[in-house]
Amino acid sequence: MNRYLLLDEENIWVDELPTGIQFLFPEPAGTNRCSEEVAPGIFAQNTSAPPSPTARTINIRQIFDLGGAEAFALAGRARQLLFWSQTHQYCGKCGALLKKERVERAMHCELCALRFYPRINPVVITLIHKGGSLLLARRTDPGFNHFWSIVAGFVEAGESLEQAVQREIMEEVGITVKNIRYVTSQQWPFPNNLMIGFFAEYNSGEIQPDGQEIAEAHWFSRENLPRTPARVSIASQLIEKFFNELERAPQE
Ligand SMILES: [Zn+2]
Repeated sequence: MNRYLLLDEENIWVDELPTGIQFLFPEPAGTNRCSEEVAPGIFAQNTSAPPSPTARTINIRQIFDLGGAEAFALAGRARQLLFWSQTHQYCGKCGALLKKERVERAMHCELCALRFYPRINPVVITLIHKGGSLLLARRTDPGFNHFWSIVAGFVEAGESLEQAVQREIMEEVGITVKNIRYVTSQQWPFPNNLMIGFFAEYNSGEIQPDGQEIAEAHWFSRENLPRTPARVSIASQLIEKFFNELERAPQE
């Protein structure tokens, strides 16, 4: 029997049972054409109707702590696919109604013969290090200025990932880096990003926050670390990995 992840935009319906958190439900009543298969036998739908009298919604980010990394991956994939199908109802070139492809996951314009695949926006996120310290920045945005994180930004058209890393760091904090090293990646369904994580070594320049996106930035060591992003984020994983590698490194 098929099971359903039920989303309400960026939130997911869950039921807290004595056995743990439930986030997969039977097929909801009524017909809803907008469903996407996220894994074999698991579908996603948007709904504002609770699937049970005790169900409540939580932000997708919270399911990482409540249900683990796999639950977050599944819910994130559901969000990305539903957001894509919601925002690809009409052809971006001619405005005609799009049709869902049967053989692959794509929307198709019969007039232009264009196909629209699920859109993923790449973001580079870089931990800049200098000796045993790393650079953390606090943003100006009031929704994000209560913690410190590493520098991130969207990859622009025509850019390589390495160029995006160099440009973002120069724009946001005014320094240059060397020895850019890919570390890991993670989907980030807010709403459709792929976070690509790097380590880079400080090269030259004085830290100069741009004042637009970044309010302040400083070097921090493990001993004086401020409040950093939640465990669900790739930033948190990169910071942890940096300190783990530092501990294992031979003393010079
Ligand atoms: Zn068209």
